[in-house]
Amino acid sequence: VFRPAKRISSIGVSEILKIGAKAQALKREGRPVIILGAGEPDFDTPDHIKEAAWKAMQAGQTKYTALDGTPELKAAIRDKFSRENAVDYALDEITVATGAKQILFNAMMATLDPGDEVIIPTPYWTSYSDIVQIAEAKPVLIACNAEAGFRLQAAQLEAAITPKTRWVILNSPSNPSGAGYRAEDYRPLLDVLLKHPQVWLLVDDMYEHIVYDGFEFVTPAALEPRLKNRILTVNGVSKAYAMTGWRIGYAGGPRDLIKAMAVVQSQATSCPSSISQAASVAALNGPQDFLNERKASFQRRRDLVVAGLNAIDGLDCRVPEGAFYTFSGCAGMLGKTTPAGKRLETDTDFCAYLLEDANVAVVPGSAFGLSPFFRISYASAESELREALARITDACARLA
Ligand code: PLP
Repeated sequence: VFRPAKRISSIGVSEILKIGAKAQALKREGRPVIILGAGEPDFDTPDHIKEAAWKAMQAGQTKYTALDGTPELKAAIRDKFSRENAVDYALDEITVATGAKQILFNAMMATLDPGDEVIIPTPYWTSYSDIVQIAEAKPVLIACNAEAGFRLQAAQLEAAITPKTRWVILNSPSNPSGAGYRAEDYRPLLDVLLKHPQVWLLVDDMYEHIVYDGFEFVTPAALEPRLKNRILTVNGVSKAYAMTGWRIGYAGGPRDLIKAMAVVQSQATSCPSSISQAASVAALNGPQDFLNERKASFQRRRDLVVAGLNAIDGLDCRVPEGAFYTFSGCAGMLGKTTPAGKRLETDTDFCAYLLEDANVAVVPGSAFGLSPFFRISYASAESELREALARITDACARLA
């Protein structure tokens, strides 16, 4: 009989994947399902990046590379950190992995022992808590509600820290809430961390280039140099350059940590894809102007979706600072009854109803550790978003 290891037995298949699978199955049955669940840009990877991959293949860059990144890519990352973030990392303070997800995995596996605690504000990107659990440590979840802008507050952080706390994970702009931390939002949190030298900070800056209304992105290692020796600054090419399938993520951090992460990577994947690394060099060193065009397009869609949701009685959508998600409250829908006679008790029920009745797939807040909310990914064509909003509006009107 198959017996899974204890370290994975508490981890289910992510709710996002489950809903995605159900939506795809309905689509195959011929239902006109609109899927607003996926966490990836609908744009294609720019041509100059694809060409760099092709050239790398022709030049024979088809072999294993240095364990945690080619010297060329590490140099491009070093330059990116200093140019865009005003943080200086030496080449041996930089690591490259098969996606930012593997960066997180390497970091947690390299540092956590059973009983260690990791503070994760909710709503969170699901993988944070699952990876911490695979590393046999304990996620300590802290609810950050819409009134606080879905941002962790200093008093909450202070109260959650124990002698066993090893990490705090912050993500700005956030998946799923879209909330961004400004310098003044980070400051009180960094002050708390200065008082607790056993606690390290992992910041996930994945969505730094997708910010709106002039939001000024900042990263903690630049804000507080005294903490730089216990901050891991995580980033990647997936979202900014529409390269989710290329699987390249990277990080800057203290040398000892970077070395320990390479040990994990050496026995997991040996090295990231040589071809994808060459493409990522072109992404980071190449023209950046298309980022602004894409950002403007995302902002139009954000505005469309936020306005459409807030026009519905019973939904409440905070305007996100970045990323390509809305995270709307749906408390006003709970307790209502569907035309089929089912009472909606949870955000999961509400999302199931939208899929069944409106053929729109969205993800319940429960998947991200905060209810009652639901996430829409608006990285879809405007026409599709308009149709989805019209269907959600109708479906909500049919609730009694
Ligand atoms: N961090 C956040 C906040 C994300 O939303 C995602 C992807 O959904 C990742 C990291 C992972 O990115 P990658 O494709 O580099 O593994």
